Amino acid sequence: MSNCCIPGCTYNSKSKNKRSCFAIRRPDFARTDKERRHREVLTRLILSLRDSSKDDNIKWLLHKENAYICESHFNPDDIIVYSNRKALKCGRLPAYNLPHTCPSFAKRARMIQK
Ligand SMILES: [Zn+2]
Repeated sequence: MSNCCIPGCTYNSKSKNKRSCFAIRRPDFARTDKERRHREVLTRLILSLRDSSKDDNIKWLLHKENAYICESHFNPDDIIVYSNRKALKCGRLPAYNLPHTCPSFAKRARMIQK
């Protein structure tokens, strides 16, 4: 079962309204430099939102590539739609439905997208 790892988002694969979820892949498995940078930024963003000192298994989930972000945090334009699945465009970051404790988040996302 996959849960969205954005704090405050209750989406999981058992929810009624299906959303696509994008796994956060490990930077060390990336095939290109651009892909690696994208993965590094995503990993850091998630770690900055989650408190791994408080019994949070997020580091383990990231290590296993079992941490997901659901599509409600992305612009539709950030998502590539294939016939049977969706994928996140390289370099795109979550910018919606994020915790209020992270005001610089959306700003940073816009910067990277330029
Ligand atoms: Zn979510």
